[in-house]
Amino acid sequence: MQNPKVNYQILLDQTLREIGKAEKPPTLLLHACCAPCSSYVLEYLSRYFAITLFYYNPNIESEAEFDKRFREVERLVAEMPMEHPVRVVRGTYEPERFYEEVARGYEHVPEGGERCFRCYRQRLTEAAQMAAEGAYDYFTTTLSISPLKNAQVLNAIGKELAETYGVGYLFSDFKKRGGYQRSIELSKIYSLYRQNYCGCIYSKREQEERASRGELGGCAACAAQAQCEENKK
Ligand code: SF4
Repeated sequence: MQNPKVNYQILLDQTLREIGKAEKPPTLLLHACCAPCSSYVLEYLSRYFAITLFYYNPNIESEAEFDKRFREVERLVAEMPMEHPVRVVRGTYEPERFYEEVARGYEHVPEGGERCFRCYRQRLTEAAQMAAEGAYDYFTTTLSISPLKNAQVLNAIGKELAETYGVGYLFSDFKKRGGYQRSIELSKIYSLYRQNYCGCIYSKREQEERASRGELGGCAACAAQAQCEENKK
């Protein structure tokens, strides 16, 4: 029998209630995949934390695309008002590492499968290491805002890495309570670039194949899944 799904938004609620009583905001190392996904998460969490936004995405299929997404992250942070200041750190672009540690042997696994779980792990491990070295109170990632990302797997990896590196992991599922919808609104307000594929070359090819069949993909597929009742709780 499968384990019941955990609602990680409820665990986040509990942590935020505890943090709300602290005199000084705790520090959070927040891994960011792109500006649209960061928008709602920053609006939400900058009320509670002093955030360092860590853009580490060796999965992205070209350096031009990596830079384009990063520039949008920087612009968003410069333009969006936030309660506590947010610092942005650009991670190294190392696509060979993505191929060696994540994709080799998993090139043909469809999006949402094992290759993606390995991709989550690679990015979260880098964030956990940086959080431990910088003595942050917590680390987490914006990735769970996407209805196409598996929050159960993401949070299980985060918990395991928290134990390995001795740093707090902020449980979260940012797509809940309309988080994904709000990210679409904020993307419109700040005219953010919204890519139509996840990031790696395999997701780009899958998107092109879906488009050639006239099927939904990328942000449109995300938006369709965000309508499901489970993502509203
Ligand atoms: S589809 Fe996205 S999450 Fe999955 S491996 Fe590619 S870049 Fe990573």
